[in-house]
Amino acid sequence: MNNFRFRLAQFFAGRTGVDAIGRTATVTALILMLVTMITGSNIAYLLAMACLVYSIWRMFSKNYQKRYAENQRFLTKTAGIREFFRKNFVKLKNLPAKIKYDRQQRKIYSIFYCPSCKQKLRAPRGRGKIQVTCSRCHTQFIKKV
Ligand SMILES: [Zn+2]
Repeated sequence: MNNFRFRLAQFFAGRTGVDAIGRTATVTALILMLVTMITGSNIAYLLAMACLVYSIWRMFSKNYQKRYAENQRFLTKTAGIREFFRKNFVKLKNLPAKIKYDRQQRKIYSIFYCPSCKQKLRAPRGRGKIQVTCSRCHTQFIKKV
Protein backbone atom coordinates (compact mmCIF):
# COMPACT_ATOMS: atom_id res chain seq x y z
CA MET A 1 0.00 0.00 0.00
CA ASN A 2 2.79 2.41 0.91
CA ASN A 3 4.53 1.48 -2.30
CA PHE A 4 1.38 2.31 -4.20
CA ARG A 5 1.12 5.68 -2.49
CA PHE A 6 4.75 6.39 -3.22
CA ARG A 7 4.25 5.58 -6.88
CA LEU A 8 1.14 7.73 -6.94
CA ALA A 9 3.06 10.64 -5.41
CA GLN A 10 5.84 10.10 -7.91
CA PHE A 11 3.35 10.09 -10.75
CA PHE A 12 1.90 13.44 -9.65
CA ALA A 13 5.28 15.04 -8.93
CA GLY A 14 5.98 17.76 -11.47
CA ARG A 15 2.44 17.65 -12.78
CA THR A 16 0.03 20.53 -12.46
CA GLY A 17 -2.60 18.86 -10.27
CA VAL A 18 -5.81 20.64 -9.41
CA ASP A 19 -5.53 24.43 -9.57
CA ALA A 20 -8.12 27.22 -9.74
CA ILE A 21 -8.69 26.74 -13.49
CA GLY A 22 -9.04 22.99 -12.98
CA ARG A 23 -11.57 23.47 -10.18
CA THR A 24 -13.55 25.99 -12.23
CA ALA A 25 -13.57 23.64 -15.24
CA THR A 26 -14.73 20.73 -13.05
CA VAL A 27 -17.52 22.77 -11.44
CA THR A 28 -18.55 24.11 -14.87
CA ALA A 29 -18.65 20.52 -16.17
CA LEU A 30 -20.90 19.46 -13.27
CA ILE A 31 -23.26 22.39 -13.84
CA LEU A 32 -23.39 21.61 -17.58
CA MET A 33 -24.13 17.95 -16.81
CA LEU A 34 -27.02 19.09 -14.62
CA VAL A 35 -28.23 21.26 -17.53
CA THR A 36 -27.91 18.21 -19.80
CA MET A 37 -30.01 16.11 -17.43
CA ILE A 38 -32.72 18.76 -17.19
CA THR A 39 -32.86 19.92 -20.81
CA GLY A 40 -31.37 16.95 -22.71
CA SER A 41 -29.25 19.44 -24.64
CA ASN A 42 -26.49 17.87 -26.76
CA ILE A 43 -24.52 21.10 -26.77
CA ALA A 44 -24.49 21.24 -22.97
CA TYR A 45 -23.34 17.60 -22.92
CA LEU A 46 -20.48 18.27 -25.34
CA LEU A 47 -19.42 21.36 -23.41
CA ALA A 48 -19.54 19.38 -20.14
CA MET A 49 -17.30 16.70 -21.67
CA ALA A 50 -14.94 19.34 -23.06
CA CYS A 51 -14.64 20.97 -19.59
CA LEU A 52 -14.05 17.59 -17.97
CA VAL A 53 -11.40 16.53 -20.48
CA TYR A 54 -9.74 19.94 -20.15
CA SER A 55 -9.64 19.75 -16.34
CA ILE A 56 -8.19 16.21 -16.45
CA TRP A 57 -5.67 17.22 -19.11
CA ARG A 58 -4.57 20.18 -16.93
CA MET A 59 -4.25 17.95 -13.88
CA PHE A 60 -1.83 15.59 -15.66
CA SER A 61 -0.03 18.24 -17.68
CA LYS A 62 3.73 18.12 -17.19
CA ASN A 63 4.26 21.65 -18.49
CA TYR A 64 3.89 22.96 -14.97
CA GLN A 65 5.31 26.43 -15.60
CA LYS A 66 2.98 27.16 -18.51
CA ARG A 67 -0.05 25.89 -16.56
CA TYR A 68 1.06 27.96 -13.54
CA ALA A 69 1.29 31.11 -15.70
CA GLU A 70 -2.18 30.38 -17.14
CA ASN A 71 -3.55 29.96 -13.65
CA GLN A 72 -2.02 33.23 -12.47
CA ARG A 73 -3.55 35.07 -15.44
CA PHE A 74 -6.89 33.43 -14.67
CA LEU A 75 -6.69 34.49 -11.02
CA THR A 76 -5.87 38.09 -11.98
CA LYS A 77 -8.70 38.30 -14.52
CA THR A 78 -11.30 36.78 -12.20
CA ALA A 79 -10.22 38.62 -9.02
CA GLY A 80 -13.23 40.97 -9.18
CA ILE A 81 -15.74 38.17 -9.75
CA ARG A 82 -14.24 35.98 -7.03
CA GLU A 83 -14.27 38.89 -4.57
CA PHE A 84 -17.95 39.52 -5.43
CA PHE A 85 -18.86 35.88 -4.73
CA ARG A 86 -16.74 35.72 -1.59
CA LYS A 87 -18.36 38.87 -0.14
CA ASN A 88 -21.88 37.67 -0.88
CA PHE A 89 -21.15 34.20 0.44
CA VAL A 90 -19.93 35.71 3.74
CA LYS A 91 -23.05 37.92 3.86
CA LEU A 92 -25.29 34.92 3.25
CA LYS A 93 -23.46 32.83 5.85
CA ASN A 94 -23.82 35.60 8.46
CA LEU A 95 -27.46 36.35 7.64
CA PRO A 96 -29.10 34.06 10.28
CA ALA A 97 -26.82 35.49 12.99
CA LYS A 98 -27.60 39.03 11.82
CA ILE A 99 -31.36 38.41 11.91
CA LYS A 100 -31.08 36.98 15.43
CA TYR A 101 -28.92 39.92 16.54
CA ASP A 102 -31.34 42.47 15.05
CA ARG A 103 -34.26 40.78 16.82
CA GLN A 104 -32.45 40.96 20.17
CA GLN A 105 -31.51 44.58 19.54
CA ARG A 106 -35.10 45.53 18.78
CA LYS A 107 -36.18 44.23 22.18
CA ILE A 108 -33.73 46.53 23.96
CA TYR A 109 -33.57 49.43 21.56
CA SER A 110 -36.05 51.45 19.59
CA ILE A 111 -34.79 51.74 15.99
CA PHE A 112 -35.71 54.84 14.00
CA TYR A 113 -34.34 57.09 11.26
CA CYS A 114 -33.15 60.68 11.33
CA PRO A 115 -35.86 62.86 9.69
CA SER A 116 -33.19 64.97 8.01
CA CYS A 117 -30.53 62.58 6.68
CA LYS A 118 -32.22 59.16 7.13
CA GLN A 119 -29.37 57.88 9.29
CA LYS A 120 -30.42 54.76 11.20
CA LEU A 121 -30.46 55.52 14.92
CA ARG A 122 -31.35 53.71 18.10
CA ALA A 123 -32.21 54.53 21.70
CA PRO A 124 -32.98 52.33 24.72
CA ARG A 125 -36.69 51.53 24.95
CA GLY A 126 -39.04 52.72 27.69
CA ARG A 127 -37.63 56.17 28.36
CA GLY A 128 -40.67 58.00 27.01
CA LYS A 129 -40.15 61.18 25.00
CA ILE A 130 -36.49 61.98 24.53
CA GLN A 131 -34.52 64.51 22.56
CA VAL A 132 -32.37 62.79 20.00
CA THR A 133 -29.31 64.26 18.32
CA CYS A 134 -28.45 62.59 15.01
CA SER A 135 -24.98 61.12 15.08
CA ARG A 136 -24.36 62.07 11.47
CA CYS A 137 -25.94 65.48 10.79
CA HIS A 138 -26.55 66.58 14.41
CA THR A 139 -30.21 67.40 13.73
CA GLN A 140 -32.17 67.41 17.01
CA PHE A 141 -35.67 66.02 17.24
CA ILE A 142 -38.09 64.59 19.79
CA LYS A 143 -38.78 60.87 19.70
CA LYS A 144 -40.93 58.64 21.87
CA VAL A 145 -39.07 55.44 22.69
ZN1 LIG B 1 -29.24 63.05 10.50
